[in-house]
Amino acid sequence: MAVMVGTGLGAQRGILFKNASALEDATRLDIVVFDKTGTLTMGQPDVVEVVAAADVDEDEVLTLAATVEQGSDHPLAQAIQRRAEGLTLEALSGFVNLEGRGARAEVGGRTVLLGNRRLMDEERVDLAALLEEAERLQAAGQTVVHVAAGGTVLGLIAIADAPRPTSAAMVQGMKARGIEVAMLTGDNQATAERIARGLGIDTVIADVLPGQKAERIKALQAQGKRVGMVGDGVNDAPALVQADVGLAIGAGTDVAMDSADVVLMRSDPYDVLVAIGLSRATLRKMHQNLFWAVAYNVVAFPAAAGVFYPLVISPEVAALSMSGSSALVAINALLLKRTRLDASPDDGATPA
Ligand code: ADP
Ligand code: MG
Repeated sequence: MAVMVGTGLGAQRGILFKNASALEDATRLDIVVFDKTGTLTMGQPDVVEVVAAADVDEDEVLTLAATVEQGSDHPLAQAIQRRAEGLTLEALSGFVNLEGRGARAEVGGRTVLLGNRRLMDEERVDLAALLEEAERLQAAGQTVVHVAAGGTVLGLIAIADAPRPTSAAMVQGMKARGIEVAMLTGDNQATAERIARGLGIDTVIADVLPGQKAERIKALQAQGKRVGMVGDGVNDAPALVQADVGLAIGAGTDVAMDSADVVLMRSDPYDVLVAIGLSRATLRKMHQNLFWAVAYNVVAFPAAAGVFYPLVISPEVAALSMSGSSALVAINALLLKRTRLDASPDDGATPA
């Protein structure tokens, strides 16, 4: 069963609750975990700087990297390819994708490795020459792709992915509602922390391999927290399933749509706040309605039976009030349409 939650705004913003329990669970989340890339950020990384080791040419770094990345469809690979347009790429063989780390391939008789610090450490690449540069770039919130051959680092490619315009306002709104916000990413700690700080996020779970994202959600649940997870389904589908409420953003992948409890059709993280506001308003309505329905039945029915003698109402009136309670419940439910939720972070209003 899927419910397009009924207010004009929910439908207009494309917020789809796939089942009723998701609607209820969304009202009680302690923490919402956001995937970084493509959720909090645009997911359209761009190369901003190329650093070459001594005696190495910047174009050589870029050419080698772009050559290897021909084998990959990772967004970082695409950024590197774009930057290398106009350069003549070499032939590559033996391409291997190293998930959550980078890639490896043979180029011109050399084994070229490219990726994050974890990969370089695992392969015992000597990073000393460019360590300080790498740290400088990461502290600025950029993702550093190391390019290495023959056991030494040849250069670094710094890549930036801008935050989505509503991410910071969303974080503020969550905090105002007493909900903790965390960032989850396969990117390194320093880069993730810098981006998180800019958005007002205090909790950063970084350096997480794609296969470990669901475990990290489980660990939060083991602390007794009710966890929401927001992602685009690119390597985070198991985490969406593990969370108490999984929210797929951007209607990106079919996996995300299938794995999630709530689908947000647009790529706007602010819709997470709107979805939670909607769920709270809907549940409040249901409780009010339960009150009215019970009140009529508890008061009118016994009154007709003479329980409150000498105050007696005729069975006809009691019967009428019974339908009165149904009408009231229906009218109250319809009033949900009027619930004011802010349509955008800058119109000053706040979700219920
Ligand atoms: P995310 O959690 O941000 O979606 P991934 O798990 O896809 O990240 O990748 C984690 C990290 O591994 C990236 O930040 C990058 O440093 C490295 N990486 C993965 N694939 C590649 C690639 N094709 N080229 C360069 N670096 C890569
Ligand atoms: Mg991702």
